[in-house]
Amino acid sequence: MRALCVVGARPNFMKIKPVVDALDRRGVEVVLVHTGQHYDRSMSSVFFDELGIREPDRWLDVGSGSHADQTARVMMALDPVMEEVGPDVVVVVGDVNSTMAASLVAAKSPARLAHVEAGLRSRDWTMPEEVNRLVTDNLSDDLLAPSADAVANLLDEGHPPDRVHLVGNVMIDTLLANVDRARERSTLESLGLAPGGYGLVTLHRPANVDHVEMFKGLLGALGEVAAECPLVLPAHPRVVPLLEALDVPAGIRVIAPLGYLDFIALQASALVVLTDSGGVQEETTALGVPCLTLRDTTERPITITEGTNVLVGRDPERIVAEAQRVLREGVEPRRPALWDGLAGERIADVLVDETRARR
Ligand code: UDP
Repeated sequence: MRALCVVGARPNFMKIKPVVDALDRRGVEVVLVHTGQHYDRSMSSVFFDELGIREPDRWLDVGSGSHADQTARVMMALDPVMEEVGPDVVVVVGDVNSTMAASLVAAKSPARLAHVEAGLRSRDWTMPEEVNRLVTDNLSDDLLAPSADAVANLLDEGHPPDRVHLVGNVMIDTLLANVDRARERSTLESLGLAPGGYGLVTLHRPANVDHVEMFKGLLGALGEVAAECPLVLPAHPRVVPLLEALDVPAGIRVIAPLGYLDFIALQASALVVLTDSGGVQEETTALGVPCLTLRDTTERPITITEGTNVLVGRDPERIVAEAQRVLREGVEPRRPALWDGLAGERIADVLVDETRARR
C-alpha cells in the first residue's frame, strides 16, 4: 500500500507527523510531499527538525501568492507527481490552501482521498479556511473527524455514515508526545519569564490582522491586559508589517515566531493565552490552560463546551473584561474524548482497512 501525504503550512506539520509514523509502523509506503506554501525556517523546517519528520520526498516550491495563485500552482505541480507515484490513498490535513488544492487533484485521480480534521465548521464563509474545509470534505472518501461535533456536522451535511470516522485529534498526539521535552527546555529562562507570570498571544487571521483599525483595537485591548499580566507575542509573518507600523503598548513583548517546542513550553506555563489560531485553541484545552479566542466564530466549539476556551470576539472592552475574569478565576481543565495521543494510530487503521476493502 502506498500513501501520498501532503503538507504545506505550519499547522500541517504537527498534524501529519503521527499519521506518517503510524502508517510506517504498518508497513505502508509513505511519500511525503511539501507544497512549499510556508518555506522559511521559522515556519517550516524548524518543525521537521524538532519533531523528527522525515525529509519530504518532493518539494513543489509554490511559495507565497494570492489564494488562486497558490491553489493553481499546487494543483499544477502535484498532478505529475500523482501520476508518477500512483498512490492508493492521498492524505491531506487541516484547512490551508495546499489542503484544498491537493484534494482537487486527488479527487480526479484513481486514489482514495482521506481528510484528517474533517467536519470542522465555523459557518463563516468570509474565512478562506472555511471554503477549504467544505471543498475538501466534499471531495473526500475518508472523513477523519477529531471530535463528536465534527461527526455531527458531516452527518448533517449528508455524508454517508460509512465514510465518517471519529478518530480523535492528531494535533494532540503530537502535543502529548512532546510536552515533557518542551517543559525541560530553558525557553522561559531565556525570555526572563516565570511559570504563571505571563500571557501568550498569537494573531494571524486575515479578519484580525489585515485591517489597521481592527488591529489597533485589538492591540489596545492587549495593552490593557498587559498592564496586569505581561504578554509575549511571537509574531506570524502576516502581522509583522502592522506591528512595525504601530506603537506596541508597553507590557507586550513582540518576538519572532517560535519553533514548536519553545512555543509549547510557553503555552504550558502561561497564565492565559489570547489567540485567533485554530490549533492553539486545541492545545490550550489539552494543556488545561485558559484560552481566549479573539474571533466571532470558531470551528472548534468542542474546546468551549469540553475545554478551556472562551470565544470573546473582537470588541476591546469584552476582551479586557474576559481576560480580567479568567486571570481572577482560572478555568477547570477538561479534555474531549479521544484527545488521547492515539489519533494517528486510529487513522492508519482506517486507511489500511479501507484500502484493503476496496482492492
Ligand atoms: N506555533 C508554533 N510557534 C508559534 C506559533 C504557533 O510552533 O510561534 C504552533 C502551535 O503550537 C500550533 C500551530 O503552530 O501547533 C498552530 O498553527 P497556526 O496558529 O499557524 O495555524 P492554525 O492552527 O490557526 O491553522
